[in-house]
Amino acid sequence: MTELKELYPVGEQPPLGYVPPKMYAWLVRPERFGEPMKAWQEEVIDIPEPADDEVLVYVMAAGVNYNNVWAGLGIPIDVIGIRNRAGEPERFHIGGSDASGIVYKVGKDVTTLKVGDEVVIHCGIWSRDDPWVKSGEDPMYAPTFRIWGYETNWGSFAQFTKVQAHQCLPRPQHLTWEQGAAYMLVGATAYRMLYGWAEHALRKDDVVLIWGGAGGLGSMAIQIVKAAGGKAIAVVSEDDKFEYCMNLGAVGCINRKNFNHWGMLPHWKDTVGYNEWLKGARSFGKAIWDILGERRSPRVVFEHPGETTIPTSIFVCDTGGTVVICAGTTGYNATVDLRYLWMRQKRLQGSHFANDEQSKGFNDLVLAGLADPCMSRAFTWDELPYSHQLMYENKHPFGNMAILIGAPDFGLGKNIAEPAGAVQIEVVGEPKEREGFYRAPLHPVDEVKAKEPAVEDTRLVRELMHYGVISCSTTTPVDEVAQRMTEYHVHAIVVTDAAGYTAGVVSQTDVVLARQGRTADDLATLMAADIMSPHVVTCSPETTISEAITLMTRNRIHRLVVVDTRSGKPWPVGVLSMTDIITYGMRTAPLGASSMSLPPSALATDIYEPMAPEPSLADLGIIEDSTLVADVMHQGVVTSPRSASVLDAAKQMLEYGIHAVVVVGDDGHAVGVVSQTDVVLARQGRTVEQAAALSVGDIMTPSLVSCTADRKLSEAITLMTRNRVHRLVVVEDKAGKLMPVGILSMTDVIRQFFSRN
Ligand code: NAP
Repeated sequence: MTELKELYPVGEQPPLGYVPPKMYAWLVRPERFGEPMKAWQEEVIDIPEPADDEVLVYVMAAGVNYNNVWAGLGIPIDVIGIRNRAGEPERFHIGGSDASGIVYKVGKDVTTLKVGDEVVIHCGIWSRDDPWVKSGEDPMYAPTFRIWGYETNWGSFAQFTKVQAHQCLPRPQHLTWEQGAAYMLVGATAYRMLYGWAEHALRKDDVVLIWGGAGGLGSMAIQIVKAAGGKAIAVVSEDDKFEYCMNLGAVGCINRKNFNHWGMLPHWKDTVGYNEWLKGARSFGKAIWDILGERRSPRVVFEHPGETTIPTSIFVCDTGGTVVICAGTTGYNATVDLRYLWMRQKRLQGSHFANDEQSKGFNDLVLAGLADPCMSRAFTWDELPYSHQLMYENKHPFGNMAILIGAPDFGLGKNIAEPAGAVQIEVVGEPKEREGFYRAPLHPVDEVKAKEPAVEDTRLVRELMHYGVISCSTTTPVDEVAQRMTEYHVHAIVVTDAAGYTAGVVSQTDVVLARQGRTADDLATLMAADIMSPHVVTCSPETTISEAITLMTRNRIHRLVVVDTRSGKPWPVGVLSMTDIITYGMRTAPLGASSMSLPPSALATDIYEPMAPEPSLADLGIIEDSTLVADVMHQGVVTSPRSASVLDAAKQMLEYGIHAVVVVGDDGHAVGVVSQTDVVLARQGRTVEQAAALSVGDIMTPSLVSCTADRKLSEAITLMTRNRVHRLVVVEDKAGKLMPVGILSMTDVIRQFFSRN
């Protein structure tokens, strides 16, 4: 009889049914949150007992998913801290949300599994005592729903994993252990997206547009659509992915690099930019029709890139169709042209993982050989951190990756031949850097409590604001408004009615968009009232600074008009800007330039009265379409290394009178941007010490809105307005690296548009 051990080396399987007291596992601990190579470390820990409805599975192989890159980083949520606060004592996280393995121990209430069963595991966990689950409703909506191995502990990156019995499904015996561990998370997610929404459940002959057709989710979606007799059209970023998608069953492919209208929708007032966007979206739609050989639009659009693609997805989706989305990989701000949504009665449907039936639905397709796991690469046990590091650096191969856990070698576990006619896919598994691929952090599923109680800045607006406003009347010509903006160095002008009360606000964007697409003659007829926004975001002098910051950031603005409403109407008394908050709000003493003193605390008697209009508009036609960014931009850029502290960036902003600092890598190429908003939000909810501990790299926005100096000015304006930014970083492409060479700001554009010289 073999001697039973307390701990088995990785790759040596304990006798069936014997659960040793200890196991090897890859763990994250809070003190080493960071990049995968640092965060994930091998340790020996006690094997947990399964609860009555749980089983212990000896893990043969585990799947690799991005959620455990985030878990290791500790952002955007600290999964360990959250569980500790909920009463779980373990100060570590064992990730892993996909697995194949063998059942070694069953809880006393488990009737569907027995020791020795070979299983694959889906990652949906919920409490069987949850009233929602008990009532027979979809457990995906249950408050106790969690993703196993991300939101819960005891995932598959260990010799044994603890799972609920219902998570286990029969392992396809025609696959290797590692293939079995590669597909369930993405496959079941895609299955729910395509079958889970009754009105738009997949039907034979449906046209389905699939983003990222060669990616994890996309490759599963193509196969599901093919199995249903539908027509999958895959979108990819390189022509050499076409063959792969066609082999999976796509009827055609589109290379998204052939189009350049991606990103948030242009402002609907920007007729030039909007028309340009429409041209792009229409030609993309035509590419779909060309593939189909008829004018049919997708009944379902399978979405996950999010911010950059959603306007197009909604546009090309058929009347009465749906855009179903499970992620926002490129960002979370979905801009939707509501006119298309309501007139064509389209739907935007969120979807998240899958329930038992949907997981089974996908597993049945795999069992029948109708879906291949598309495993691109398998790693050894020792390479677990490396596989995640590749993902972190966006160098991971396309398709789905797996890691050997208990399986002693690659290629084991294949016990039967493939089912007749089975799909078999060869995936090239070479690591390769993905150009321009930015993955926004996972959004926490639950409302997450702040780590520490958030620190509120209870100082009042009246302590930091500027008294007096630069204003104009409703009938002031736009030309005059622009002159005042440049003369007084302000980014917005308050429009007052005849009695002096606030009637609206004209921002730099309003002025620039007034010019965009109009002739100088058209422009000459416009007055402040025509272009102003009547919804002025205001606060009172008694508002707290924390509330004011939230008001600004949620309205995407950089200043608040401070009003006195004692008379029942908004009397403008001053302005609070992001700059004021950075100057006086980061510390208790003013930061930066010593010449800055506290604003005068006199009351608002100096409201700027509009001068008699003096519209010398004759020479306003100076902006030719041929004006280039190079003609208008500022040379030179204020930059900061990633490691600089947030306070250094704040000081730079004040010293140079700028609203953003470009963050650069070691060789000087631009890697991101830190805006005033980023700096202010770094301070919001934190003490001065906590904010000072943050580096520029922690708070920067990595997606840089940039253009080259040879771009047309009108294109640059559209780039700014659709991305809701007030300046572009002008760059030079040096061997694929974007070197910052200048800045183009809204102020520069206004100066140029309304220059009288
Ligand atoms: P993946 O294998 O990395 O594939 C993502 C694909 O997106 C890539 O193949 C890429 O294809 C495409 N892509 C990248 N940038 C794009 C852009 N700017 N515009 C259009 N397409 C772009 O990832 P995945 O496993 O399929 O997962 C995709 C997302 O879904 C991730 O964010 C993941 O976390 C999330 N997810 C959510 C759930 C859920 O239950 N909610 C489940 C699974 C995954 P091309 O470059 O060829 O176009």
